[in-house]
Amino acid sequence: MNLAFLIIFFVLGLYMGSFYTVVGLRLPNHENFISSRSYCDTCHHTLSLLDMVPVFSYLFLKGKCRYCKCNIDGLSTYMEIFTGILFALSYFVFGISYELLIALGIVTMLITISVSDMRYYIIPDEILVFFSGFFLIIITISKGVSATIWALLGGLILFLCMYGIMLLGNFLFKKETLGGGDIKMMFVFGIVINPLLGLFAIFLGSVLALPLSFFLMVKKNQKIIPFGPFLLISFAFIYFTRIDISKIVDFLRLL
Ligand SMILES: [Zn+2]
Repeated sequence: MNLAFLIIFFVLGLYMGSFYTVVGLRLPNHENFISSRSYCDTCHHTLSLLDMVPVFSYLFLKGKCRYCKCNIDGLSTYMEIFTGILFALSYFVFGISYELLIALGIVTMLITISVSDMRYYIIPDEILVFFSGFFLIIITISKGVSATIWALLGGLILFLCMYGIMLLGNFLFKKETLGGGDIKMMFVFGIVINPLLGLFAIFLGSVLALPLSFFLMVKKNQKIIPFGPFLLISFAFIYFTRIDISKIVDFLRLL
């Protein structure tokens, strides 16, 4: 663990968080997020580099656009801070390793998917396809082809489990309970973690989502709750804390 690296990862995370927010907001609309410049959502003025320093620009401009003085959406700033912390944490937990690449991939999924799921209730297929490929390549390079085949099998198993949970939920509640994106996302989880841990992630995500869903549905009369961010938070938690199957079995024995 090297303090300089920790700071570098934090600052890199701040910048990446800004980029991930743009990806999460633009990808579902099929807008270009690589070459086209950032602009103010209200006056469409192109932003200069000074307007785009993570966190500081927002604080310095007091949350207002420099050109039209409208309020800037704070979402990007929260995501920048969150990504910065998670990037630093990734380095802190895994050091310079293949696991670090996977951890950074998980953080990237968490931020981009959360943004688009919270805004549009969409988990973009492009992100899931990209990270399936990314994780499989890392696993092939670091652990070999047989590990990759097991990873694919794990993805398939967890995908089918989630599909079964959806069928059961639809049957019990007589309405659509899970989005297609949540189910497809399980394939990606199963590549990276053991399918049993994946099931634990689904359980943990549901426990996290329950109080907030109840609040939003009853108090705010909101009909759809994005489940993706909760699943991703529990997935990241399991990966970062390196919980293994035996610990879960021990835990279940205690109950
Ligand atoms: Zn503006």
